[in-house]
Amino acid sequence: MCNMAAPEDEHDVAENGEEEKKTFRDLGVTDVLCEACEQLGWKQPTKIQIEAIPVALQGRDIIGLAETGSGKTGAFALPILQTLLESPQRLYALVLTPTRELAFQISEQFEALGSSIGVKSAVIVGGIDMMSQAMALAKKPHVVIATPGRLIDHLENTKGFNLRALKYLVMDEADRILNMDFETEVDKILKVIPRDRKTFLFSATMTKKVQKLQRAALKDPIKCAVSSKYQTVEKLQQFYIFIPSKFKDSYLVYILNELAGNSFMIFCSTCNNTQRLALLVRNLGFTAIPLHGQMSQNKRLGALNKFKAKSRSILLATDVASRGLDIPHVDVVINFDIPTHSKI
Ligand code: AMP
Repeated sequence: MCNMAAPEDEHDVAENGEEEKKTFRDLGVTDVLCEACEQLGWKQPTKIQIEAIPVALQGRDIIGLAETGSGKTGAFALPILQTLLESPQRLYALVLTPTRELAFQISEQFEALGSSIGVKSAVIVGGIDMMSQAMALAKKPHVVIATPGRLIDHLENTKGFNLRALKYLVMDEADRILNMDFETEVDKILKVIPRDRKTFLFSATMTKKVQKLQRAALKDPIKCAVSSKYQTVEKLQQFYIFIPSKFKDSYLVYILNELAGNSFMIFCSTCNNTQRLALLVRNLGFTAIPLHGQMSQNKRLGALNKFKAKSRSILLATDVASRGLDIPHVDVVINFDIPTHSKI
């Protein structure tokens, strides 16, 4: 799943091979953050980082066309942390994401990169107690990572909380935020944050809705693109199996048996089917765990963590987990139901 493209396989950045040798320092990243990258094992910046970080440090708005696995979180987190270091301030940056799981993943990267400089972040997503989130916001973290709906809830109902001093807005997976009908929420948020701010908009694809949002929210942005439409990782092997649908379950179990010992993510179109298949394969002795929108947020996080910790070999999920999650040890991804959107 960690579909980080090798630095040399796209000519737009690494035409003469020179870019490959770039370091974070070359991009203008300060020593303390370079050290943080090193500690995370990030030896060289990725393509999106090479493109976006210098531009962001110049104070420009960015529209980044990049997918999960490209290192895009680092591409927006590093410039935010660096400018935060230069002028420390609470409630400095807001990152909007489409799903709760992504929000936690982004916050982990902020915490990891910012631990040595004492950066505090708060995750504000649905399905979790409002009160404890209100308390986290009262402590005025530097970075808020939120899904749009719950953030609006706090902006409207949590006393003393506002984003009027915000300096950075990041919209991550903007195409997906808009596809999930968060458009009104995003508009509301744009109205209560300063116009005088920097905005980074990241999206895997450039849809009409994303273009509209870009016009509304960004000022003279620089485009940083590292992915073409529908790009998949070069080394990824893809197969399809053409079978009568009544045999799908048996074929699935056959594959799981044949490839036993690997780690699987299986995507289904409905919560019910996810749950049913989880029971089916569990009864057959596989260690499987479901992840879908009808589970409580605690259960969803628990499921993901068990899978990440490799105590379960199969994660059965609906599209709440279909994009954006970065789980490096996954060996096999099965689309049990064909996704209804070609982009997914
Ligand atoms: P993202 O695309 O932001 O979800 O990042 C995907 C994965 O790449 C995460 O696990 C990051 O920790 C990792 N990553 C980000 N930047 C680098 C880098 N420069 N070198 C190695 N790994 C990185």
